Amino acid sequence: MKQATNIEVKKNNRNRIFRYICEHETVSNPDISYDIKMSLPTVTQNTKELIERGLIEEIGELKSTGGRRAKALSVAANARQAVGIDITKNHIGLVLTNLKGEILEYERIFFPFAENEKYYRTVNEKLELFLEKTNVDRKIILGLGISFPGIVDINRKMIIHSHILGVDMVPFTSVSRFFSYPCYFINDANAGAYAEGIYSKNRERFFYISLSNTVGGAIFSNNALIQGDNFRCGEVGHMTIIPDGRLCYCGKKGCLDAYCSAMILSELTEGKLEYFFKALKENDKRIEKIWEEYIAYLSIAIHNIHMILDCDIVLGGYVGSYIEPFISSVRNKVREINTFSEDKIFLKACSHKTGAAALGAAFNVIERFIQQV
Ligand SMILES: [Zn+2]
Repeated sequence: MKQATNIEVKKNNRNRIFRYICEHETVSNPDISYDIKMSLPTVTQNTKELIERGLIEEIGELKSTGGRRAKALSVAANARQAVGIDITKNHIGLVLTNLKGEILEYERIFFPFAENEKYYRTVNEKLELFLEKTNVDRKIILGLGISFPGIVDINRKMIIHSHILGVDMVPFTSVSRFFSYPCYFINDANAGAYAEGIYSKNRERFFYISLSNTVGGAIFSNNALIQGDNFRCGEVGHMTIIPDGRLCYCGKKGCLDAYCSAMILSELTEGKLEYFFKALKENDKRIEKIWEEYIAYLSIAIHNIHMILDCDIVLGGYVGSYIEPFISSVRNKVREINTFSEDKIFLKACSHKTGAAALGAAFNVIERFIQQV
């Protein structure tokens, strides 16, 4: 029993040291010892082990502040890598990242979803071609994070439902068997939120609204996602915004999704959201009117979420990636209906403008590794 405890303590120490090194550029053993309040011999022993495992490396010496120069240590960022795949109705997004969460390669491919073996076999082929380009050694790939637009039940290990893809009760294994790497599944809005929060210094707690072709959301708190009892936490797309309002794809009336899906905007500009925001920037009157309407509905959702959670709200998804130059118009709308005066700005645009869901899925794999180092 005692031995198990010692092993746990040792593992915990090693993990804290490794995480500290991952989060900093260049550090020394004394820096780590001081900052995480661990004895210098313990730190030195652990960093020695991590060097032997190839997970960190010595990169010269730090400037002396008197006395002996300390060795400069840094994470061997590319020693382990992870892939993220974002599966959507019409595209797949692929990203390769490393232990520092850097984007090494990203690609978005037009490839409509189909629930059959051929689809997954082709996705695997596209993934292997993508990896071919990066020259990554397959042995260092920790796994494949798969973002899915639907209810992802991690306990039952299945995708319970995806309305947009038209699938129900898909066991993880029926997807993972097509790939050569361990697969980890995550809901798309959760993945977007995870990308936004996990390696960010200033985003400890926030609500993420994913404004893509479907609308979703996620709560990120203390470096983790809140999943809810049925893995449906944050499904704001089906919050009722207008009683008896527009018909939603879910069959109900008045859902946020029916008013704030990215398609509401993109269908006015040949299916291209980019053109919509270009026209908005150029003060196209017709586009401006639609935008005013769009943000009026969106503001109701933002206000309601903010009243419940009282935390930052990040706008992500397709619309979120274009919204930064126009965010003050949304803030003003929210301010008009806010009951309270705010002493800080709580509404933010997402920081990952491309491939957030794929990236979040990949970060999920990296984080699992860091936790067990
Ligand atoms: Zn709905």
